[in-house]
Amino acid sequence: MFHFDRGLKLTKADLAIDFRRRQPRAFVSHAHADHMARHEYALCTPATAELYRFRYGPRPTRDLLYRAPVEWGGLRLTTFPAGHCLGSAMLLAEDGEQSLLYTGDFKLGESATAERAELPHADVLVIESTYGNPFYRHPPRQTALDQLFTLVRQAIERGVTPVIEAYVLGKSQEITRLLTSAGFPVLQHPKVFEISQVYRACGVDLGDCHLYPGHPLPGHAVVVPPRMHRSGQLPGLRKTTTFAVTGWATHEGTRNRLGVDHAIALSDHADYDELLEAVERVSPKVVFCTHGPASFVECLRAAGHNAFPLDCPHKRQQAGFSAVQMRLF
Ligand SMILES: [Zn+2]
Repeated sequence: MFHFDRGLKLTKADLAIDFRRRQPRAFVSHAHADHMARHEYALCTPATAELYRFRYGPRPTRDLLYRAPVEWGGLRLTTFPAGHCLGSAMLLAEDGEQSLLYTGDFKLGESATAERAELPHADVLVIESTYGNPFYRHPPRQTALDQLFTLVRQAIERGVTPVIEAYVLGKSQEITRLLTSAGFPVLQHPKVFEISQVYRACGVDLGDCHLYPGHPLPGHAVVVPPRMHRSGQLPGLRKTTTFAVTGWATHEGTRNRLGVDHAIALSDHADYDELLEAVERVSPKVVFCTHGPASFVECLRAAGHNAFPLDCPHKRQQAGFSAVQMRLF
């Protein structure tokens, strides 16, 4: 059903999945730069298409609405929300005999700006496993939010500007929505604001949020791209408390490594427990893991799953899975 050619391809439809190299036909699971290229023809959700065109200009796309099957290239393709960022989607491909679910980047928990993930059953699961290590268990979401809001409030009370660093697409908009919902108006860096305008055009309400006017405003938090405080690209910011918002905050050294005052463990990727839960819920006959630590395959096997690494043929063979078997799927 699929093969691996420096990336995952659905064989029957000759459809590349999340390729970073230009392809004649590609599915784009979401609009992060490491999942897309200027393809000749892209299949994606309408919101991802908006973000994709924002990044690359007008390009031919085919809309795949959530939960609306489309017959394409001999396959039935259906997208489901992935809970990662606006428009992010899992792809279910069915050929009449077998089904394959590709998760792309996902998280199972709640998001303020993305539809919550849904996991259909599939025979074959290809799972993105960034946090596939038992070390990565994110704290409860409310705990991380309470920590963030308390520190932001304390900074504002001291007359210090809270500056939150977050990826410009997805995390920035979610943290903005969370802050404005908690009563903190937000000023955004231009790079963040331009993506927020696409979110708003897609119907996402971000609350009391404006473009940074060239100087901080009392009582406002500022949302900027990662590591922005080091280059000091926003004028007028002097007394600041800086935050990084990342799943890697579970690591002791993250705060120092990123050079921020506080690291908040709020992620848009599934943590270790969510990854295991996702596999349980899909209940596949075989699992292929990608984008994560090699040890996650062993963790799944220990939990009784038929698991293999996707990315590396050598590692697959070591794990006892041959190229011939691969073609059977
Ligand atoms: Zn992503």
